[in-house]
Order: sequence, then structure tokens, then C-alpha cells
Amino acid sequence: MDVSAYIEDVYQEVRRRGPGEAEFHQAATEVLTSLRPVLERHPEYAGSGILERLVEPERQLMFRVPWVDDAGRVRVNRGFRVEFNSALGPYKGGLRFHPSVNLGIVKFLGFEQIFKNALTGMAIGGGKGGSDFDPKGRSDGEVMRFCQSFMTELYRHLGEHTDVPAGDIGVGAREIGFLFGQYKRITNRYESGVLTGKPVGWGGSNVRTEATGYGTVYFAEEMLAGRGHSFDGRRVVVSGSGNVAVYAIEKVHALGGTVVACSDSSGYLVDEDGIDLALLKEVKEVRRERIQAYAEARPTARFSSRGTVYDVPCEVALPCATQNEVRRDDAVALVKHGVLAVAEGANMPCTPEAVEVFREAGVLFGPGKAANAGGVATSALEMQQNASRTTWSFADTEAKLATVMRGIHAECRATAETYGGNAEDYVLGSNVAGFLRVAAAMAAQGVV
Ligand code: NDP
Repeated sequence: MDVSAYIEDVYQEVRRRGPGEAEFHQAATEVLTSLRPVLERHPEYAGSGILERLVEPERQLMFRVPWVDDAGRVRVNRGFRVEFNSALGPYKGGLRFHPSVNLGIVKFLGFEQIFKNALTGMAIGGGKGGSDFDPKGRSDGEVMRFCQSFMTELYRHLGEHTDVPAGDIGVGAREIGFLFGQYKRITNRYESGVLTGKPVGWGGSNVRTEATGYGTVYFAEEMLAGRGHSFDGRRVVVSGSGNVAVYAIEKVHALGGTVVACSDSSGYLVDEDGIDLALLKEVKEVRRERIQAYAEARPTARFSSRGTVYDVPCEVALPCATQNEVRRDDAVALVKHGVLAVAEGANMPCTPEAVEVFREAGVLFGPGKAANAGGVATSALEMQQNASRTTWSFADTEAKLATVMRGIHAECRATAETYGGNAEDYVLGSNVAGFLRVAAAMAAQGVV
């Protein structure tokens, strides 16, 4: 069999079926390209159509979400849920509320989620959803009415054994609360395990809020340790200032590093004394203001709306905002400044051109599906606690998260070594390790 030609055929079919889904094409081509050495060893996966089935979601839902704003005007958004793959467990993946959301974005996120969830070793399939609703500038009442309308359609597709959403961009504890309340009301069931990311007081898990950011830093710490480095005394740049970014900053500081810059969609701020996390949380989590408010409150900080956060010299970069934010020029700037490692807290924040620059320069690169898997892993821990009606302590839960992240790191290295001869090729390692687990389950479950 000509493996390269077969992979190209599968990819061309993806493009033909979903024209215009640029981000999904990008994610699919990266994974498919990595699978060549696997198919050379396991031609049986081609025979049973694993690849053709993997790239086609099991179910795709699109629906109207009508709601009424504070001025009494009727608004209409579009809702999505892509239930991509359930070979390993119920569909699991977050909901994103952002004006940029469309089917191609949800499919890219859902596709990535399949392999990420498989890497955790937990019993979770892959899915993703969201809406083009923009919570920014909306009152709590408007957000609640939107969430209620969204769930009024989505509830019939969910269940703790079927499909379990969580948060993502624009969806935090407030939105999860409104969504859960509506699910409970419609179904007349207190089904804790149907959503994760709940507040700790009523079914949430300790460490879920911190998990993605902390996990990304654990992963980066392991990458650095492989070359005899640590975070201690390092200059670090983090993009974004949302859930993932804030807790990545917190963990870097705990490990002795200094985060000197972070950003939001309006620009970036530099604080050479290190980001004051209490102030950042106050501005972004409590007051829900733009990052510029931080710079106005702290004389040591400066805000810039020109250039990118990657213009700031650093030794470790943690992109934690959104897809395709690190472009070729940003990667070149990072390399010029001597960056040692880049770990993706966000999903696919580095363009393929940027990844190529890191590869050529020998920069350690941790792709999102491995580096940011701590969030979904802790969601799976939340599901376990819900199923047994128990709550674990912060320390116990964080220890479990750390174990999962170190396990993913070790598995990526071992798989990359086996299939490509270079343990530091985390892209190959994560794609292949995730694929092998999903493919084995799909093969065993027959053509479904
Ligand atoms: P939040 O909504 O809490 O924060 C997102 C941050 O990224 C904000 O600072 C936001 O700035 C910035 N941002 C979003 N879109 C853009 C854009 N188009 N251009 C520039 N900046 C942007 O989301 P999360 O922190 O939860 O998610 C961040 C990333 O991490 C996403 O890629 C998500 O998929 C990924 N992720 C999240 C997980 C989680 O557990 N939450 C788990 C795994 C991955 P602004 O406020 O100005 O929009």
C-alpha cells in the first residue's frame, strides 16, 4: 500500500466534504501526516477504514438560539455541538462562546479533543461545541437567558453517559451554572456528571479551575527537565489573560519563574517586576475589564496595543489565548531572543509555519493536545467524584493532575522515539499515542 497516497486521499475527502473549514483542515492535516509511520506498521487500520471514520464526526448539531436582550430586542445566535468520537467514552469537550465560532472551528477543536482525551488514559471520547454569542459587555441577565435558550435545545443530546460539555473561551463557572440550572429544570434530574467545571460548592472538583494552566506548566517543566533546565529564575511570557493564562502564571511563579508579560485581544502588558496575579485576577475575573486597567493601576507596568506579546524577550513562552495567534514572525522573534521551550496552553495557537521555525531551531515544542490536557483530565476526575458522590481535597486532586501530565509527557517521548527516533518530537508522539488508543478501541468495536 502507498501510505502517503492513502493519507492524501483521506485528507482530500476532508476538504471536499467541508470546504471553508480552514482550521479543521489544518488540524486534520497535522494529525494525518504524523500517522504515516503508524500505518506502515499497522496496515490493518487502513483496511478497517479507521482514518475515514475518524475524520467524520459521529454527529454534528447546529441550532438556532433565540433570546431577548435587556432592551427587549430579540437576538438570534447559532449553537453547535460536534460529537466527534465515542470509542473511548462519552463525548467530552468544552463549549466556546465567542463571535468567531463557526462549524470549522468547532470541528477542529472536537478533532483535537479526541486525541487529547485519549492521551489522558481516561474513559472519555471527543466532542466540542459553542456559539457565536459574545458574552463580552452582556449583563448577567442576558448571559443567563442566552444560556437557558442554548440548553433548551442541547439538553436532549447530553447525559453523563452520552455527552458531557465543559467550559472554554467565554464559558466559565457563571455560564456552567446557568447551563446546569436549565438542564436540571428541563430534565427534572440532578445529574451532576452532565457538565464539568461546576463550582466546588455544588459538584465541582477542586483544581478544575486551575487545571489547564497548571497542567501546561507541569508539561513544560518536564520538557525543560529533559534538557537539564527548570523554571527557576526563568523569564516567561504568557499570551491571554483568561482562565488558562491566569493559572499558568500562578504555577510558573510557584516554580520560581517570572512571568513578565501577558495579553488580551486589545494588546499586551509588560511588567518587569513580574505580573501581580492578585491584580490581574481582580481586573479580569472580578471586574471583567480590559488588560489596560492593570497597567493603569500599576506604575511598573506598560500596556501596548501595537505588536504582540512575543516581542517581549523570554526563555519560555506559553501561548494561552487562541488558535493561530503565534505566526511565523512571532516564532522568529522568540528564537532570536533565545527561547528554550514553547508549550501550548491554548488549542493550536501556533501556526504550522511557526512550529516549523521552532523545529528548525531546536526549540522544545509541546503541542496543545498534550500540554493542555490537564483541563479535560481534571474534568474526568470531576466526573469520577460525581459518580461516587465524593469530593477530593485540593492537594489530592492536584497530585492526580501532576501524575497524569507526567504520564502524558513520558508516553509522548516513548512513542516519538519508537515511531520517529526522536523523543523530543512531541507532535509525533502525541498524535501517534492518542491515535493508537482510539484506533484500537474503534477496531475492536466494529464498523460503527
Ligand atoms: P478565556 O475566555 O478564559 O480566556 C481567553 C483569553 O484569550 C482572553 O484573554 C482573551 O482575550 C484571549 N483571546 C480569545 N480570543 C482571542 C482572539 N481572537 N485574539 C486575541 N486574544 C484572544 O478562555 P480559556 O482561558 O478557557 O481558553 C484559552 C485557550 O485555552 C483556548 O484556546 C481554549 O480552547 C484552550 N483550552 C482551555 C481549556 C480550559 O479548561 N478552559 C482546556 C484546554 C484548552 P479577550 O478577553 O480580549 O477576548
